[in-house]
Amino acid sequence: MPLLSLNNISRSFGTTKAVADVSLEVQQGEFFGLLGPSGCGKTTTLRMIAGLEKPDSGTIHFQDTDITNLPAERRGFGMVFQNYALFPHLNVFENVAFGLRARHASKAEMSERVASALDLVQLPGYGKRAVDELSGGQQQRVAIARAIAIEPALLLFDEPLSNLDVSLREETRSELRELVTRLGLTAVYVTHDQEEAFALCDRISVMVGGKLMQSGKPRELYEHPSDIAVARFLGRNNLIKAMRVSSSNTNEGEFKTLEGDHTLHLQVKHSELSPLNQPVFLSIRPEHVQLRANGDSGPNAFKGHVREIVFAGATSTVRVDAAGLLLEALVLQPEGYNVDQECTVVLPHDRLTLLQNQRG
Ligand code: ADP
Ligand code: MG
Repeated sequence: MPLLSLNNISRSFGTTKAVADVSLEVQQGEFFGLLGPSGCGKTTTLRMIAGLEKPDSGTIHFQDTDITNLPAERRGFGMVFQNYALFPHLNVFENVAFGLRARHASKAEMSERVASALDLVQLPGYGKRAVDELSGGQQQRVAIARAIAIEPALLLFDEPLSNLDVSLREETRSELRELVTRLGLTAVYVTHDQEEAFALCDRISVMVGGKLMQSGKPRELYEHPSDIAVARFLGRNNLIKAMRVSSSNTNEGEFKTLEGDHTLHLQVKHSELSPLNQPVFLSIRPEHVQLRANGDSGPNAFKGHVREIVFAGATSTVRVDAAGLLLEALVLQPEGYNVDQECTVVLPHDRLTLLQNQRG
């Protein structure tokens, strides 16, 4: 049984459909990510989980109880926002104790829990400090301490690191992940930053335009996006328009590319076999496109010309034109390739994905 489940929740603001029919499940102990471009409805979704916003329709269950109408303060969730939301007139101790005071914890219990929360975020003995004496990173750690001091059944993060500079962000990111794991907590983490979501999360749901497009482990999403929006959002991708031509019922699909008229074979699940003679999109990551300086013609291999080589430090991008089909390959050593040179392109069948959902 999942710890948290959202069942077909929607929320509009006037004519803006901020969240449209979103369903997802979060398991106990999971670090779960909600990833998508700005304005796609992440914050609204998180606020509905927190109880700060009510869905227009749909339900939210926690530990098998319907909490859709339960007020935020009775959900017992800890929250950390982008702008820390610390109380500037209270010192560190009082900020961390805030949720405990609201729960009428005893003085002794409060001291102990605050001290232990400050230990956990590596700010021991900081209780008497004023909030404005602290750096941005320290303030965010106080906000995290405040959220974990109540020993929440669920931790909600809304882009908590985006106000920190890059090096501090990466450091705090590792500490946060380590802390949540050590305490055995369950977290829902909202971010627009793919790298951050990939580094932190066990599982991720990708949202675009209010809709949940795909859920899965970071590597699954990256290597096998289910549709064009996800393929485009999650870094660079070659999108190849093609048509399925074989009518066999095996798991091997044969496709012809619309540009270049190349034949491609790939494994497709039986249920995924697309109708014949209808254009579909295949995708492959640039780092999985193989280039060879001279021809070996095997399956999924065809001739092309190098159009451009873009040096980017550790890697280079080689743009290839294969009879009108333009492909990007990411290579470590671009030596041996020159513009206009003929080369062979190989698209390994297990790296090609048939996008299921063809809307862009
Ligand atoms: P994200 O966190 O992914 O950037 P939000 O959930 O904040 O997205 O917003 C989703 C959409 O809903 C946006 O178009 C935003 O302008 C709109 N929106 C969010 N909150 C409100 C609100 N309180 N009033 C009106 N529109 C809102
Ligand atoms: Mg937001």
